[in-house]
Amino acid sequence: MQTNYETLTEAVKELAIIGSIGNVLGWDMHVNLPPKGNMLRAQQGSYLAGVGHKKFTGKEMGVLLAALCIEADAGNLTEDQALNVRKLRQDYEKATKLPTAFVEEKSEATSLANQAWVEARMANDFSKFQPHLEKIVELCRREADLFGYQGHPYNALLQLYEPGMTVEKLDSVFIQLRPFLSVLADWVIADGKKHRPVEGKFPLEKQRELVKKVSALLGFDFTAGRLDISPHPFTVSFSPNDVRITTRYSEKNLLYALTSTIHETGHGLYEQGLPADQLGMPLGEACSLGLHESQSRLWENHVGRSAEFWQFMLPALAESFPEFRGVKLKNWMRQANRVERSLIRTEADEVTYNLHIILRYEIEKGILEGKIQVKDLPEVWNSKMQEYVGVTPDTNANGVLQDVHWSMGSMGYFPTYTLGTIYAAQLFAQASKELPLKEQVAAGQFHDLREWLRETVHRHGRKYSADELVEKVTGSPLNPRPLMDYLMAKYVAL
Ligand code: ZN
Repeated sequence: MQTNYETLTEAVKELAIIGSIGNVLGWDMHVNLPPKGNMLRAQQGSYLAGVGHKKFTGKEMGVLLAALCIEADAGNLTEDQALNVRKLRQDYEKATKLPTAFVEEKSEATSLANQAWVEARMANDFSKFQPHLEKIVELCRREADLFGYQGHPYNALLQLYEPGMTVEKLDSVFIQLRPFLSVLADWVIADGKKHRPVEGKFPLEKQRELVKKVSALLGFDFTAGRLDISPHPFTVSFSPNDVRITTRYSEKNLLYALTSTIHETGHGLYEQGLPADQLGMPLGEACSLGLHESQSRLWENHVGRSAEFWQFMLPALAESFPEFRGVKLKNWMRQANRVERSLIRTEADEVTYNLHIILRYEIEKGILEGKIQVKDLPEVWNSKMQEYVGVTPDTNANGVLQDVHWSMGSMGYFPTYTLGTIYAAQLFAQASKELPLKEQVAAGQFHDLREWLRETVHRHGRKYSADELVEKVTGSPLNPRPLMDYLMAKYVAL
C-alpha cells in the first residue's frame, strides 16, 4: 500500500508539472510571443494557474496534509519529509484563506489596473490610474485582513514575498540605512571624482558572445539553461535542470547587457543549485524574494562591479573591443560605479538605489495606514524624491508612474530588493572571511564562491527563513552594517 507521503509526492509532482508548464508559457510570452498572441496566452496562463490552485486547495489535499502532520508530530517521517509537510500545510492554509470570489475580483481589478497604468504612463496622466490604484489599495487592505496579522497590516502582505519579515525589523534597519545613504550620496557627488568616459559602438554580436562567456565563467550551466533577450531581464526556472535567464543590449553601453546578465546569472545559479530531487516540494524551492535578490546582487555588485573583477576583465575586453585598449582600471571603475541623483529606480547606482526603495516602502505603509491618500501620491512622491534622492521628477511618468508593481496588486514586494542588497553584503563579507576572494576574482576564478553559495544557501531550499539562514551562515540576523562598510570602503577607494 502507498504511504501518505508517497501520495503527497505524486500530487506535488503533478502540481510542479502544471506550474512548470505555466512558466514555459510565461517565458515564451516575454521572449518570443508576437503581439497578437497576447490574448490567448493570458487565457492559457490563467487557466493553468486555476487548475493548479484548485488541485492544491482541494479538500483531499487538506485531509492528506492534516494526516501527514500527525505522522510528523509522532516522529514517523524523516526530518526532511516532516519539514516539507509542515511548510506545505502552511502554504495550504494561506492559499485557502482567500475566498475564490476575492481572488477573481483581485485578478480582474489588477488586469484592468495594469492596462490603465500602461496608458497613464504613456500619457503622463496620473488621473487615469488613480481610481484603479484606489481599488487596488482597498483590495490589499482586505487581503491583509483575510490573511490576518500581528501588529501592522503591512506584515500580512510582506509574508507573501519575505516570510518572517516584519515592519518592525524593516523600520529598525531602514532608520540606519537611509541617513547613511543620503550622506554618502552627497559626499560622493560633491567629491566628483573625474574620469574619461570610455565610449564607442559595441557590436551586438560580440556583446552576445561576451556576456554568454561571462555567465558560463561564473558557473551558469548552459546544458541546464539558456540566455535569451527580453526588454525587461528576468529569470524563470522550469526545474534546476532547465533555468532560463534573459538580458538586453545597447550598442552604446556595454555595461547595460553585462551587468544585467551577471545579475540574472546570480538568480539562475540559485535556481540551478536547488535540490532537483525535491522538485515542487518546499525543500526544492527558493527561500524568499529577498534571498533570491541577494544572489543576483552579490554577483552583480560585489563581484561584477569590483576592482578585482575589472582587473581581470579589462584586458579580455580590450581584445574584443578596441575602445578598451589602454583604459586604466581606476578610470573605468569610476565610470562603472558613478553615483547620480537619478529619477528611475531600475537605472540607479548602488548608493542611491536603496533610497528609491525606502521611499516606496514608506509610501506603501502610509497608504495602508490611510495616512497617505492615493490622490495625493504624485505630490508625496515628488517631495520625498527631493528629500531622499535630491531630485524632483520632471513628469509623473518618470515619478510615481514608473513601476509596474502596484498595478499588479503587489504591495509589500519592494522591500525585498533592499533586503536582498543587505543579505548580499552580509553573505559576501562572510565568504570573504572564509575564501581568498580578492585573489580568486582577480584571476577570473569563481568556482569556490559559487560552491560556497551552493553549500550555505542554495541547497537548503525553504528549510530556513531568509533571516534565519543568513544568521546561520554569518552569525548575524538582518544587519545593514556590512552593506554600509562595503559601500564606504568602495567609494573611499575610487
Ligand atoms: Zn533581481
